[in-house]
Amino acid sequence: MSQHHLTLGVLNGDDIGHEIVPASVQVAQAAAEHCGLSIDWRHMPLGRKALDELGTTMPEGTLETLATFDGFILGPIGHREYPKVDGAINPHPILRKKFDLFANVRPTRSYPDIGCIYDDIDLVIVRENNEGFQPDRNVVAGSGEFRPTEEVTISVRVISREGSRKVATAALELARARNKRLTVVHKNTVYKLGCGMFVEECYKAAEDYPDVTVDEAIVDTFAMHLIRNPQQFDVVVTTNMFGDILTDEAAGLVGGLGMAPGLCIGRGDIAMAQATHGSAPDIAGTGLANPYAMIESTRMLIEWLGRRHELPQAQATADLMRKGIEAALADPAKRTPDIRGTGRLSDMVEGMLSAIDKEA
Ligand code: ATP
Ligand code: MG
Repeated sequence: MSQHHLTLGVLNGDDIGHEIVPASVQVAQAAAEHCGLSIDWRHMPLGRKALDELGTTMPEGTLETLATFDGFILGPIGHREYPKVDGAINPHPILRKKFDLFANVRPTRSYPDIGCIYDDIDLVIVRENNEGFQPDRNVVAGSGEFRPTEEVTISVRVISREGSRKVATAALELARARNKRLTVVHKNTVYKLGCGMFVEECYKAAEDYPDVTVDEAIVDTFAMHLIRNPQQFDVVVTTNMFGDILTDEAAGLVGGLGMAPGLCIGRGDIAMAQATHGSAPDIAGTGLANPYAMIESTRMLIEWLGRRHELPQAQATADLMRKGIEAALADPAKRTPDIRGTGRLSDMVEGMLSAIDKEA
């Protein structure tokens, strides 16, 4: 990587992915041009389109090629709609595990007039990404669901000391860069071994971060506090399935799933931008999908790479994208209907692009 150059993979995914991912590239590219950052966008087939054209949702060589990039943008995957044929696999767990993207960083923040329940929320939930209940039997031995008899199903949750420590450390780093507060969300009153281990490792990791105040909350109580007083939280760290549910709840506070971005990170140099929401097949092709989550995820990726590689042009690009995003969100004609707008995806992109040109 040269001083002001990034190579980024672009994987559209499925359904609205074919709309929101190109929108993200367009907005990021416009900001990058103004900031002297050259981005080499490498489009790669993945998901349903790859299955139809190449016979597999995850073409050979995808992982090896991605490994040569600085990062990538992954659109939502509609894997539940895939036909039951060989080659129709869910690429999500494979990507996350290959690049050890154990921390899914999901910010929740309020913007004016778009239907947020409070106008002053600014928190980040860090969801553990590679353990828990997720049924990835092929990838982690022992993880998943089993049916010993037709009448009984056993679901296995994997929690490891190392996995817990890694995600706790990522959350502590983030807390240090923000308001120095971390809340560990768990249910160790019932899941004494699993959640117990998670909490223990969070406190152990926190010994290296004396500047960060750590507290904890039981997941059900936390779900209630998140509705009643979300302003009290800064950075939250939790296990995989709790994080899945709580981040959708948090999205509900600030305008819905279209407002829920995410960045998957690990200890390595590669990060993956991925919106929290799914592929929304019900609105695909209508032009009404809200691209915010995907565009903001892309912005987070560029910002993260800028910090990691000390690349001022990337940081400037992320800052300029933010101005474009805020300007579009402030104008009802440039917002999609899910966030009290009268516009379409194309209007939102247009709003961002013109604000970026004006601000630059
Ligand atoms: P997954 O299991 O992949 O998380 P899901 O079942 O949670 O998927 P989503 O695809 O996230 O479902 O979407 C749920 C509904 O939320 C969609 O049907 C759609 O109406 C709405 N939605 C999701 N994303 C967006 C978006 N970007 N813009 C507007 N509406 C959206
Ligand atoms: Mg979901």
